[in-house]
Amino acid sequence: MANPKRKRCSKCKKKFPATTEFFYREPRVKDGLRCECKSCCCVSDKTRYVANPEQKIASSKAWKAANPEKVAAHQNTWAAAHPEKVKKLHAAFHERHPLYFVWSDMIRRCYKPNCTLYQWYGALGVTVCARWLDPEHGYENFCEDMGPRLSKKYSLSRYLDLGNYEPGNVVWGTKADQAAERRGKNAMKRFHVYRVQQKVTRRKAG
Ligand SMILES: [Zn+2]
Repeated sequence: MANPKRKRCSKCKKKFPATTEFFYREPRVKDGLRCECKSCCCVSDKTRYVANPEQKIASSKAWKAANPEKVAAHQNTWAAAHPEKVKKLHAAFHERHPLYFVWSDMIRRCYKPNCTLYQWYGALGVTVCARWLDPEHGYENFCEDMGPRLSKKYSLSRYLDLGNYEPGNVVWGTKADQAAERRGKNAMKRFHVYRVQQKVTRRKAG
């Protein structure tokens, strides 16, 4: 088509080729295009947004909730096209929520059997308290109870490496602290075994 049909914008009265390059689609209209040109639509959308941003935000939130696969597809293509920006966003997220991955890793090793550490935690019956598991406020509660981490050297350390992840049983400890605690636990075990043996020998003697 050398000379495509032209369509007049109902707002700015300018004529444009009747294509999707200049007009947004509108299936309810006969020619399938909106009566305002793209730039006029953008202007009126912007005025509507400035007049009532809450409504626009709510409607876009509702659309996103109704079309999760479209949102995911868009996010994936965007992430593939902007690897540097993704890196920056991740770093910024880490800055704002420094304990997020500590919290999510804790839950993963207790409840996700495909996690490599699950055999030492979830499989042995280690659980996370309901206050920290809460899907809405779990992370906030966890931050509130644990307080800030001094440095990346510190990790979650359960008392004597036993019991569950819950306030009162978990502190920030270094690797050295945890090793010392494990030695303490082994010493306690050895002491216990020694006491049992003593009892047995005494009973035999008596
Ligand atoms: Zn126009």
